[in-house]
Amino acid sequence: METTAKDRTEIESRKVSSGKRRLIGDRGSHFLKRMEGETGANIAACYQCERCTNACPVSFYMDVKPHQVIRFVQLGWREELLRSATIWVCLSCEMCTTYCPNEVAVAETILHLRSLAAQSTIAPREKQLAVFHQTFLDELQRFGRVNEAWLMAALNLKPGILKEKMRSGQLKTEIELGLTLWRKGKLKLLPKRCEAIKEIRDLYRNRQGDRS
Ligand code: SF4
Ligand code: SF4
Repeated sequence: METTAKDRTEIESRKVSSGKRRLIGDRGSHFLKRMEGETGANIAACYQCERCTNACPVSFYMDVKPHQVIRFVQLGWREELLRSATIWVCLSCEMCTTYCPNEVAVAETILHLRSLAAQSTIAPREKQLAVFHQTFLDELQRFGRVNEAWLMAALNLKPGILKEKMRSGQLKTEIELGLTLWRKGKLKLLPKRCEAIKEIRDLYRNRQGDRS
């Protein structure tokens, strides 16, 4: 894959913490092929028009913008992606995928990177969001669907979460929101088990196996 002038400028301007210049990943094409194989996304088709980033409602909070995520995959910059805040900040709303003129599955790519990060030993940039991600998957396996009240209870029991929420005032906001939802009958206190729970657990296990 050819490196454009824009990429060269970007590569020149990025430095690793040691102060050395950041080089294109030696295994760039290997990582690109792997990502395309695992997501079914045609990542090589991206021509950096940035429509995905312009459509993203939370790109302001991302350290690596959606169009850059795709470019980094093309360049094989796996570690930078797994260390980014972006993979945890993404809402999976799929606006980026919808607006891409080349049908690059940007949202799916980011979601897959999040799963790779969760499986890796790399410390997540957004710790609370990473814990939320794992708790969500645990609850999904438990009942085959997610009950919001049980999800938040399970999340709050994770080390450090409740303390941080109390410190930031987030706990008070969540309790008020929970009460409002409960009064309106939108919050079920008892979880219901999904009939297809076995299939969901098998699917999850197979996905885990694919990545190991
Ligand atoms: S919208 Fe599609 S082609 Fe444009 S930068 Fe994003 S992924 Fe690439
Ligand atoms: S899926 Fe993620 S990256 Fe894409 S538009 Fe939504 S928040 Fe942004």
